[in-house]
Amino acid sequence: MDARRAAILEAMGIDRFVARAPLVEPLSSPSASVQSTGPVVAPATPSGVDDLDVASLDWDALAGQVATCTRCALAAGRSQSVFGGGDRAARWMIVGEGPGAEEDRAGEPFLGSAGQLLDSMLQAIGLRRPQVYMANILKCRAPGNRDPHPAEARCCMPFLQRQIELVDPGLILCLGRIAAHSLLGVETPLGQLRGRVHELKPLGRKVVVTYHPGYLLRTPGEKRKVWADLQLAMETARGQRA
Ligand code: SF4
Repeated sequence: MDARRAAILEAMGIDRFVARAPLVEPLSSPSASVQSTGPVVAPATPSGVDDLDVASLDWDALAGQVATCTRCALAAGRSQSVFGGGDRAARWMIVGEGPGAEEDRAGEPFLGSAGQLLDSMLQAIGLRRPQVYMANILKCRAPGNRDPHPAEARCCMPFLQRQIELVDPGLILCLGRIAAHSLLGVETPLGQLRGRVHELKPLGRKVVVTYHPGYLLRTPGEKRKVWADLQLAMETARGQRA
């Protein structure tokens, strides 16, 4: 491990021995990756995608629709919608739950201390924020940072689906319970969604689930598990596009 990465892991609160003895072995192919970490979960379809037709929209048209969207009640309380950002041709896509107060003000995803921790997580695997594309299930802030209602997530899902199609990532890193349940259309506890590679149908993308950095700030003892999830994600991404 080089000194810089060691410093980043230390900042994440991860003991160095975890990095010296990875929880999953390096792999050479996607199928090997799946076998080493448990079965691929049965193909999932994003839950509740309704009849909003965005399939033909390009980036500008899609962003325009999100900026003016009033499809759910969250439109009434937002300062602005938070579309997403980063490299629109990224190999990695990061999917979270929804904007908080800071993101609502700035119009950018993953800001504040949780965003900084996410940056550290990415740096630990050799990525910087401009090299990934970040988006949320919800494009508008839920009042008081409450959990989004399932109907709100359903309303917003077509936008994320189209973003995934346009980015065409090799790997989606899904952060937190709300994002995982909405994206995969399951209600399985997050701990059981970790450690496996999920296949998202019909979009045909590999998904790895881990804890949201906001949760990690409150529960730093889980950082070691996140490091294992990041290694699985790295190996899956390598297998997708050598
Ligand atoms: S959360 Fe999504 S569906 Fe609801 S108003 Fe905002 S952009 Fe539209």
